[in-house]
Amino acid sequence: MKIRYFDHAATTPVSSSVMQEMLPYFNTEYGNASSLYSLGRQARNAVEQARRRVANSLGAKPEEIYFTSCGSESDNLAIKGIVYANQSRGKHIITSKIEHPAVLNTCKRLENQGFEVTYLDVDKNGFVNLQQLLNSIRPNTILITIMFANNEIGTIEPIEKIAQIAHANNVIFHTDAVQAIGNIRINVKNLGIDSLSLSGHKFYAPKGVGALYVREGIKFDRVQDGGHQEKDKRAGTENVAGIVGLGKAIEEVYENFDWYNRKLTNMRDFFISEVERNIPQAKLNGDRVNRLPGNVNFSFPNINTKELFDALDEKGICASAGSACSSGNPIPSHVLTAIGVPRYLNRGSLRVTFGKDNTNEDVLYLLDSLKEIILDQ
Ligand SMILES: *Cc1c(COP(=O)(O)O)cnc(C)c1O
Repeated sequence: MKIRYFDHAATTPVSSSVMQEMLPYFNTEYGNASSLYSLGRQARNAVEQARRRVANSLGAKPEEIYFTSCGSESDNLAIKGIVYANQSRGKHIITSKIEHPAVLNTCKRLENQGFEVTYLDVDKNGFVNLQQLLNSIRPNTILITIMFANNEIGTIEPIEKIAQIAHANNVIFHTDAVQAIGNIRINVKNLGIDSLSLSGHKFYAPKGVGALYVREGIKFDRVQDGGHQEKDKRAGTENVAGIVGLGKAIEEVYENFDWYNRKLTNMRDFFISEVERNIPQAKLNGDRVNRLPGNVNFSFPNINTKELFDALDEKGICASAGSACSSGNPIPSHVLTAIGVPRYLNRGSLRVTFGKDNTNEDVLYLLDSLKEIILDQ
């Protein structure tokens, strides 16, 4: 059966040009980037070229980019690294209730280590309240960490305003931009971002490689001990092939930005309007306008998530549940709970995220399948 993939917020396929560029670094160019002979220097050059590509895409300097193993590691390194290095100024952190677990669970661990964390509410579309943010800042606040765009409902946060509030109060601002890369043009200097996480596999590079931008002058500690790689901030032999892939992929997504953005936005808006027209009980989660181009999230009343997903899977459709399903008991999504989706809707939610290889025919197939499954219930 043909597989139709609508889960690009979970991961993306590696683009063929990205894979081509990576291949030599698995065998002929296998040097360790820290070795001083020519094979090592070639690997070093490839890593530094990738660093320049990431920096150029973000409007940063190459010296401000650190390679990691994934988005989760970037979030851990940024948040722990910054608060450990700045704790003499205070131990208070502000985040939101709808962050990815890579941020939420990092903050929870820091609470066990004597840090205090404020988890901001969001409104019914998932936006943080800027007045509440301002009111939450204390003399001992050292870090604000708010995601650029939400992975479940696609809401794009007012990042520039959050950064302004942080800086007006002498607080460092980190953002988890894992979902935003390739979907939103980002200039870290113009937006006032101090620290930003990204992950290759969300924009057509392989799994297992990420990057972190930290503005020059921001103090942060290493959290993984060992060798002196990545300017002594992240020990471990560099994943040269993965880093090469990430560098190529970020350059490619921004080269194709206009085309990609238009395609995904059109698909999203067509799909939303068709679902609403054909399945009147469907309720859209998240904002209609300030939303990631490829993201759609619907709740359906009184639908059993497990049955919905089994039925979609039987038709070769890969999409994501808004709630994790453990042994038949759906665990309500913390994001949908935070935007006030009632429990009976939270259980039957569906996230569809489009990508570059989806066709109009795929979208029509998905629509027909969904109508059949839901209207038959
Ligand atoms: C996927 C994702 C992460 C984690 O990235 P990994 O590379 O899978 O560790 C973090 N934050 C957000 C918003 C994500 O979507």
